[in-house]
Amino acid sequence: MATMTTPVTDTRRISGGGFLIEEITPSDCFFPEDFTDEQKQIAEITANFAIKEIMPASDQIEAKDFSVTRRLLKEAADLGLTAIDIPEEYGGLEMDKVTSALVAENISKQASFSVAFSAHVGIGTLPLVWYGTDAQKRKYLPKIASGEIVSAYALSESTSGSDAVNARTRAVLSTDGKTYTLNGEKMWISNAGFADLFTVFAKCAIPDGPDAGKEKLTAFLIERGTPGFTNGKEEHKLGIRGSSTCPLILTDCVIPVENLLGEVGKGHHIAFNILNVGRYKLGNAAIGGGRMALNNGIRYAIDRKAFGKSISEFGLIQEKIANCATGIFVGESVCYRTVGLIDKALAGVDKNDTKEIQKRIENYAVECSIVKVWASEMLDMVVDEVLQIFAGYGYVEEYPAERAYRDARINRIFEGTNEINRLIITGWLMKSAMSGKLALMPAIKKLMEEVISGPSEKIEREGALADELNLLANAKKLTLFVAGAATQKYMAQIAEEQEVMGAIADMIIEVFAMESAILRAEKIADGQPAVASAVPVAMARIYADKAMSTIELAARKVIAAVAEGDALRTQLTILRRLAKHDSADTISLRRVVARHVIKAGKYSM
Ligand SMILES: Cc1cc2nc3c(=O)[nH]c(=O)nc-3n(C[C@H](O)[C@H](O)[C@H](O)COP(=O)(O)OP(=O)(O)OC[C@H]3O[C@@H](n4cnc5c(N)ncnc54)[C@H](O)[C@@H]3O)c2cc1C
Repeated sequence: MATMTTPVTDTRRISGGGFLIEEITPSDCFFPEDFTDEQKQIAEITANFAIKEIMPASDQIEAKDFSVTRRLLKEAADLGLTAIDIPEEYGGLEMDKVTSALVAENISKQASFSVAFSAHVGIGTLPLVWYGTDAQKRKYLPKIASGEIVSAYALSESTSGSDAVNARTRAVLSTDGKTYTLNGEKMWISNAGFADLFTVFAKCAIPDGPDAGKEKLTAFLIERGTPGFTNGKEEHKLGIRGSSTCPLILTDCVIPVENLLGEVGKGHHIAFNILNVGRYKLGNAAIGGGRMALNNGIRYAIDRKAFGKSISEFGLIQEKIANCATGIFVGESVCYRTVGLIDKALAGVDKNDTKEIQKRIENYAVECSIVKVWASEMLDMVVDEVLQIFAGYGYVEEYPAERAYRDARINRIFEGTNEINRLIITGWLMKSAMSGKLALMPAIKKLMEEVISGPSEKIEREGALADELNLLANAKKLTLFVAGAATQKYMAQIAEEQEVMGAIADMIIEVFAMESAILRAEKIADGQPAVASAVPVAMARIYADKAMSTIELAARKVIAAVAEGDALRTQLTILRRLAKHDSADTISLRRVVARHVIKAGKYSM
């Protein structure tokens, strides 16, 4: 649809969190309209594989026939889909992150298989890619790429999920220094029932240096079949029932020292750096799952008759369809903008310099957490609305809405719960501001002076989204203003004020989401007649309106907590001034979106 595409290499490099303080233009961002032909081709191969091979096996997958899951993982590997993030010299394809995200999105049509696939190619494999020795990589990566072996990642324990560094599993080095003995139990490990290779985290004593003797998180590679290593029973889950989730039991499990992954005591780096990638890929999988659920909902709404007509003609059904389609559009914008930022940052980095690669990805920790939270919550909204469109049929197992509803829920729990990710968003930005890594403090100071001195001059903007761009500029100001007011009040103690941290995170998330939607719609509209970009423009306007309401509510909550008396009144006046806008006719806009997708019979951008 777009007339102008921006390959990742042509976008401007913007630092993590920089969107809050910089004016970003459409050409700074990578969006789905910018996919290269090769990326589109791989997306198509993946989607065809999902439709022709995975979906027909769905019942067997859901019945936990893991031989089917393994066969499909092998077939995916034969297509190269498990090798995207693996370096060429170890049998991989070493492709860009956008391609890898596209695979995650298009394979996600069957959620249980998607979880098995992601655990294998993502959190299961990346610790080895980033921290493995040459010998470890030569031994395992070619077999992982070819689907001969399946991997898993074992961090959580029954008493430490979010608080993973408090693991109880212990690893002890033998007196001759040749082996480690591991004891403990891991919990909820994806692929545990059939995987061959596990990255297992355990506390281990640091051998020397200032921390000598202290026990810290350390990663190890453990092969299935190692004496003392077993998996427990499969969990009976609410959703993704066809994925394997079991505890791991380590009883005097002896492994050679060569199986230490990275350094003793540095396991937390491995555990958490990997999760940044897991988070944006989860976002992409949520987009794929959401789009499929919506398409089922659209088809059903067209066919289902009530009161003598198709229910797709009812305004309240159209409103749901429009909200879901807008959610997918914004989700795509948020996800690919983030992955594009990462690819841009990785351009030109030596592929063997895994420390630098991680550092550059970590720079976008905020965006990765935003993607994770936003996309998982969008998916829950979509599957809920689709179930409501199916109504009675939505509540029974034979129809797809019921499973989609159950399958979606896990996404707010794993890869760091959404509460933990919200704390990461605000905490990371505050930390970057304090250290001067991100020029947030000068921006807050300048803004405080500006807002206190009265209304600032309105910038005249042009185009179909001129009002939304003004809204966005004010949303950024309001977010900085509230973050500044909260920091002034709590200083270093702000981390203890979790509700405030969470509300600020909501504002940051919505700023990024509304900006992504507006800039993508602008990019699509560039050089096009208005009618050709009416739908993306409508979606950006619908979303901006909703996002501003969320931002205003969150701002009000924080201001009420941090100020009182005259200060409260002044701050609320500033809030009202910044949040003031003429409401868009979102009823008409939603009708435009709904009618477009209903006519197409599916979400089509
Ligand atoms: C199907 C499934 C698959 C999984 N796959 C894997 C896997 O492959 N590998 C793996 O290692 N793990 C896996 N997990 C575990 C998952 O990552 C954890 O469940 C998750 O990290 C949350 O930990 P928890 O369940 O112990 O919850 P807890 O940490 O006990 O949290 C309970 C509640 O308290 C909140 N909370 C916790 N700490 C804070 C805090 N500091 N501030 C505010 N709120 C807080 C949480 O957000 C949550 O709402 C999987 C889990 C499931 C269900």
